[in-house]
Amino acid sequence: MRKKTKSPSGGFSRSLHGRGPWGRALYPNGVGCETEIPLRSDNGSMAEALHLWRNARIAACDASMTRFAPGALLTRGPRIEWIGAERHLPGEYRPNETHDVRGNWLTPGLIDCHTHLVFAGTRAGEYAERLQGRSYQDIARAGGGILASMRAVRAASEQQLFDQSLPRLEALLAEGVTTVEVKSGYGLTLEDEAKMLRVARALARAAPVTISTTLLAAHALPPEYAGRSDAYIDDIAAKWLPKLQAEGLLDAVDIFCENVGFSVEQAEILFDAATRLGVAVKMHAEQLSNLGGSLLAARRGALSCDHLEYATAREAQALAAAGTVAVLLPVAFFCLAEQRKPPVAALRAAGAAMAIATDCNPGSAPGSSLLLAMSMATRLFGLTCEEALAGVTRHAARALGMQEERGTLAVGKAADFIVWSIGELEELGYWTGFNPCRAVIKGGRLVSRAP
Ligand SMILES: [Zn+2]
Repeated sequence: MRKKTKSPSGGFSRSLHGRGPWGRALYPNGVGCETEIPLRSDNGSMAEALHLWRNARIAACDASMTRFAPGALLTRGPRIEWIGAERHLPGEYRPNETHDVRGNWLTPGLIDCHTHLVFAGTRAGEYAERLQGRSYQDIARAGGGILASMRAVRAASEQQLFDQSLPRLEALLAEGVTTVEVKSGYGLTLEDEAKMLRVARALARAAPVTISTTLLAAHALPPEYAGRSDAYIDDIAAKWLPKLQAEGLLDAVDIFCENVGFSVEQAEILFDAATRLGVAVKMHAEQLSNLGGSLLAARRGALSCDHLEYATAREAQALAAAGTVAVLLPVAFFCLAEQRKPPVAALRAAGAAMAIATDCNPGSAPGSSLLLAMSMATRLFGLTCEEALAGVTRHAARALGMQEERGTLAVGKAADFIVWSIGELEELGYWTGFNPCRAVIKGGRLVSRAP
C-alpha cells in the first residue's frame, strides 16, 4: 500500500526520496553511475553540484537535430551547464559526479502536451458496447460519453481523483516523460473543474514532473445549462476564468470547437476573456468536421491546435504562419477507428510544427504510453521517426509555451533528459509495447532507472 500524507498547503505530497512511486529504482547506484548521487539538501547546498554524463550518443532535438557521439552533458544543479562532443569538454570543469552512459542514447525528457489524465472511473463498458456496433453518438445521447465521466468526477473526492490518476502519470514517467499537460473538462461546474486542476497541481508536487494545467470547461455542455450553451460560455469567460486564474490553477484555456461541442463564435468569446487575463489559449479543432476553428486559433496566436483530422492545406498554412503547433493524437484516431487522417503532408509542406501526444482519456484514448503514440504517428499518420521525436520534445514544448526552458538540450535549459538503451535513435517511434527507457534525469537529479 502506498502511504499518502496531506501537505500543509492542502495538496497531497509524498517524498520522492527513498522508496519511490515508480516500481523503478530511485537514486540507483547502477546504470553507469560511478557513485550514488547524494540527495539534495533542503538548504540547496547541492544546487550547484556539477554532474557529468559522458560516453553518450546525444540527440539535442534542436531545429537541426544536432547529434554528438561520443557526447557529454554537464549539469549544474537543475540546469545544463555544457553540452557537446566529449573531446571538446573544457578541462577546467571538476564534476562532483561522473556517469558513464556506455554509448547509450540521451535525449531531452519527453513532453506529453495533450492529456486528460485526471479522471475517475473508466468507460470500458462503453468500449465493449462500441465493439458490438453501438455508436459513440448513441451512447452519448443515452447520457454516456463525457457526461458519464462528468458524473464520476463530480462524485469523486480530490483524494480519490488523485489516487486514480497517479498510476497513469507513473506510466508516462516510466517512459521518460518529464513534462505533462493535464486538462480539466469532466467537472463542468466551477468547483469540480477547480477540483480537477488542484489534483493536477498535487500530482506535480508528488512526482518528479512538470505539469501544465489547462481549463477545458468548454468540453461538453453540462446538464445544468441544457439548451443554453451561450450562457455557459459567458459564465466560464466572465466568472470561472478570473477565479481560477486568481487561484493559480491556470496555465492555458482550451475549447472543444466542434459541431458536437462549441462554435467558433463561442471560442472567440472564450479566447477574448483568456487574453484579457494574459492566459494562453489552445483548441481541439477539426476532429470530426471542419468548422474552421483552427483558422481562429491561428489568428489568435493559440499555442496549439489539436486533432486536425478534417483540416486542409488552408488551415495547415495558417497554423504554420502563426507558429501555432499542430498537435496530432493518433491514439484517439486508432481507438475510435477513424478513417480520416490529419493533413500531415500539407502540414509538413507548410512548415508547421507537429507535436504528438497521448490524449490520455477514458473515452477515446484510454492509454498512457507516449512511445506507443509515437509509433502510431509514424505508422498511421506517416511521420518520420525524426518528426515523431521532435513531436514529443521540441514541438511539444512549444505547444505548452515552454520552448525557452524545455524540449531541447542546450546550455541554460532545464536538465531534464533520458538515457535510452537503444542502438539507433530510430528505435524511438519503432517499438510498440516495449520500453527502452533506462534512466530519467529531472532537474539534474536521477529520479528513476530501469530495474
Ligand atoms: Zn483531448
